[in-house]
Amino acid sequence: MDFPEPPVDIAAALAWGRLRVDPMEARLLLRHVLQCPLSRLVARPEQPLEAKAWADYRALIERREAGEPVAYLVGGREFYGREFMVSASVLIPRPDTELLVELVIAHCGEGRRVKLLDLGTGSGVLAITLALELDEAEVTAVDRSREALWVAMANAARLGASVSFVESDWFASLGEERFDIIVANPPYIASGDPHLQQGDLRFEPRSALAAGPAGLDDLASIVAAAPARLERGGWLFVEHGYDQALAVRGLLTDAGFAGIASWKDLAGIERVSGGRWLGRG
Ligand code: GLN
Repeated sequence: MDFPEPPVDIAAALAWGRLRVDPMEARLLLRHVLQCPLSRLVARPEQPLEAKAWADYRALIERREAGEPVAYLVGGREFYGREFMVSASVLIPRPDTELLVELVIAHCGEGRRVKLLDLGTGSGVLAITLALELDEAEVTAVDRSREALWVAMANAARLGASVSFVESDWFASLGEERFDIIVANPPYIASGDPHLQQGDLRFEPRSALAAGPAGLDDLASIVAAAPARLERGGWLFVEHGYDQALAVRGLLTDAGFAGIASWKDLAGIERVSGGRWLGRG
């Protein structure tokens, strides 16, 4: 028998889902369809599903079985304790990127007014989180994808964050303005990397993931262009791949940055590198 016969109750729906996808994901998808807390799934296993809910849940389980990321199926992902909307136009926020938030907070003087720029904001997680965590920050976020900017703007509105969004290919459409802190989680995967053919990455925008033969093309342009956009004493922090820290520190050195360092993510991998701009010479 392929499907249990309706009426299907919560317990049967979960049991069916568990045969196809990870049990936690089955619960998440059912909660999404029923728009209910986990406690209801646990407390009311005998509750029957309406025909529409059962059909919607089945469709989601089948899409998940075919590989679609859970975040796209439910349209959201948590980042730094807040729920962000995501669509297939943006990269799915990763916990590793929370390291960038921590670093910026640690490098911001208490109560100081800082001008902050997030390059390639995607769903807006970095810009919005920083705007909400740092009362005094004045945050600008750019993306060259208009679809991504729509998602980011919707997230900012929903979470009550004040961020200026600009459609721009990195720095291209920004004026002469300089910033105290620039952050970026750019594409950094090598274009031939087999991981692009696996898991969630297959469904994410390629333009948010891949960056030339070594994955360093965008990191190189950002690092090279950043000095002209930083206030003296300002910081640049960029996320990068697990094996790129040395190369990125090299880029920062070549561009004339001081105080160059790399920081480890929760898995103990050097995931973010940065430096301070103290001027030329
Ligand atoms: N961290 C992501 C991954 O490896 C890639 C994100 C990115 O390219 N910025 O799955």
